[in-house]
Amino acid sequence: MRDAAADQLPSDYIHYAEALLTLAHEPIHLGGEVYGVLGKGLAVGDPEAEAKADCYGMQWLGYVATQLGDNPTDAAAIATWVAEVYYPGLENSDNPEYWSADCVPGGRLDIRADKTGASPSGGTAISIPGPPLVSTTPSSIAECWATDQDSFDPADKISRTSDPSPSLEFVTKLVQPPTSDLTATGTVSAPDGSVSYTTSWTWTAQNTSWRFGAQWTNARTGRYLVTVSLGDGSVCRYAVSFTR
Ligand SMILES: [Zn+2]
Repeated sequence: MRDAAADQLPSDYIHYAEALLTLAHEPIHLGGEVYGVLGKGLAVGDPEAEAKADCYGMQWLGYVATQLGDNPTDAAAIATWVAEVYYPGLENSDNPEYWSADCVPGGRLDIRADKTGASPSGGTAISIPGPPLVSTTPSSIAECWATDQDSFDPADKISRTSDPSPSLEFVTKLVQPPTSDLTATGTVSAPDGSVSYTTSWTWTAQNTSWRFGAQWTNARTGRYLVTVSLGDGSVCRYAVSFTR
């Protein structure tokens, strides 16, 4: 597919590439690279959040493609097309904040360990790095999610709430019951980065699912980041958006 000139590419290819870039981009935000403007105009976070999410995400794109079943050659070809054709077009697009002049091989936003060989915008094939930024392997955590129900059922999971004072439960499910007591910590960070809620517990051998709850009153809108860390090094992170 890389052999085709960009202007002859089927739109499905472009949409596929954009979808992969989105999948690679959003975990960068979940990793903490965020920016927002609060009610009184106070800016918080990193103004380069979108540029970094896109540039860092682009460097993970090939890896993401392989995780979805693409073979390494085609994954590298798509990543290279994004770096050489798609990405430069962002500079003069409607969303130039997604573009950075520093997103070049060896540049400030180059996150590759060796900073050589592969793109972002160089001519050689992109390497396929790993592991993913939001790692679940190796992990004793099978899944984690938020719910506004008194429930351990994954069908009740939510990723956003419009309730101004939501009562939320944060569920964590293990692959198997722990073989010995396991310490666990759950933290919820507010959109301004401050810790809104934190709790610790000891996971005993009887349970594979656990949840902690928190009630918010007149909660600030925005994206809340939930982190569950276990004593064995397993970490699960996700976001819940508070809207109105
Ligand atoms: Zn973004």
